Amino acid sequence: MDHSILIVGSRAFHVMVQSRVHPSIAMTHAKDSVQAGLSIQARQPDLIVVQADDLELATSTLRLKARGRFCWIYALALSGRSDGTKPDIHKPDTHKPDDSQDWAAQVIVLLKAGADVCLSLESTESTPSPQEMQLLETQLQVGISAAKRYRELLKTNDLLSTIALVDPLTELSNRRALDWELPRQIERARDRDRPLSLMIFDLDFFKSINDTHGHLVGDVSLKLLSARLRHNLRANDTLFRYGGEEFVVILSDTQGDEAGEIGDRLCQLIGTQAFTINDDLELSLTVSVGVAVLRPEDDTKGLTLMERADRRLRQAKQTGRNRVVTGA
Ligand code: GH3
Ligand code: MG
Ligand code: MG
Repeated sequence: MDHSILIVGSRAFHVMVQSRVHPSIAMTHAKDSVQAGLSIQARQPDLIVVQADDLELATSTLRLKARGRFCWIYALALSGRSDGTKPDIHKPDTHKPDDSQDWAAQVIVLLKAGADVCLSLESTESTPSPQEMQLLETQLQVGISAAKRYRELLKTNDLLSTIALVDPLTELSNRRALDWELPRQIERARDRDRPLSLMIFDLDFFKSINDTHGHLVGDVSLKLLSARLRHNLRANDTLFRYGGEEFVVILSDTQGDEAGEIGDRLCQLIGTQAFTINDDLELSLTVSVGVAVLRPEDDTKGLTLMERADRRLRQAKQTGRNRVVTGA
């Protein structure tokens, strides 16, 4: 089996678990929660088996995995005390009531801390019964399968989230990403009492590029323009393809004057250097830009902020294009 199991508990507990499972199952051992934390980070095991009888160690390890980004790791809390009286949680009636009550209370604590399952072994003799070996091995296999399924689902989910938020042509964040990011940045700016500005760009007369040279050339121009913008923005500025030939930049920590200067710089960066489409074709492009600064009365989603920037973009178009319009 190609998987990894981490045993957290005393040396004797580690030996006891190993004696009950097939020798081909590879296990690593951590004797305290510090070692367990390091091992979880470094190895990302599919399964953790914690020593349920050391309740403090068990719960601190379980919380580590439940709290962090490793919630997909399957956690088995295993009790295997040498008195042989601990009941299997599934058949508590075969044991003394006080024992089953103790175990039930322990199980509640363990489940709340993040255990996926709790299991108590009947005996700890050197030759455990075949049923007990089978029970533990089956439980380990179930846990490993569950962890693998969960891990795959998370991978798919990450991939889908990335696909959903990226524009395939320009590889910039898309409008859905903007709808998600803008409210977050507005909240952050307000919490920290910092300014925030926003720019909307629109390519000038872009339809004529398509009409004259075809859509493929139009696509290449959009890609080249996006790359040029991306490489010339500051690290904290976030660029989005808003739609067709329109782009938005969120300028964090930026007042209106500075935002206007950045807009002018980007306008020149695009308008003064032609784009090399292929060996035979160079295209000159220009953009019009509308800039707005976040106001206290703006809504939390950024709708009024966007509306102001868009209005200024239209003014830039109406007053001659290839320019920036700003305002308070
Ligand atoms: P204006 O200066 O007023 O903005 O003029 P414009 O021609 O840029 O504006 P208009 O809205 O008339 O046309 C936008 C064009 O952008 C039309 C559309 O075909 C083109 N476009 C939008 N998205 C894409 C794309 O992904 N690829 C290509 N090739 N063209 C696109
Ligand atoms: Mg447009
Ligand atoms: Mg346009």
